[in-house]
Amino acid sequence: MNYHVYHNVDVINGKGTRCTLFVSGCEHECRGCYNQSTWRLDSGHVFTQALEDQIIADLQDTRIVRKGLSLSGGDPLHPANLNAVLKLVTRVKTECDNKDIWLWTGYLRDALSPEQQAVVNLIDVLIDGKFEQDLYDPSLKWRGSSNQQIHCLTDMTAV
Ligand code: SF4
Repeated sequence: MNYHVYHNVDVINGKGTRCTLFVSGCEHECRGCYNQSTWRLDSGHVFTQALEDQIIADLQDTRIVRKGLSLSGGDPLHPANLNAVLKLVTRVKTECDNKDIWLWTGYLRDALSPEQQAVVNLIDVLIDGKFEQDLYDPSLKWRGSSNQQIHCLTDMTAV
């Protein structure tokens, strides 16, 4: 997997102070996409074991307490990203105490493949659906257009 940017402290993408990873690769081609430079799978930088370890260490950091991890892009549920994302979210849930995971995807929750669902089974908040320019609403929280939905999948995070 490749990624575009990693923020080790972020207060914009999700609730609370967070770590946020923007991965590379998206096949949705939404009109008006804010992040077209992430569409190509080979754009950005290689997501290394060292960065994976760094994200875990950041989430375990007791000096700057993060509420959890946010995964955006690009699309973390792009089929080519699933192995790396599944490995990362599995580590977060097994090695980091009480951290929630938010994930933004252009795929719809009701139409996920079994491999995509395996990732979603480990996260807490899913924001799904393509960005629809005609439904753009800047007053919306955590999403760009009104067709996109916020699914709280566990009771860990009230949105
Ligand atoms: S799903 Fe997100 S990153 Fe992908 S094209 Fe749509 S707005 Fe852009």
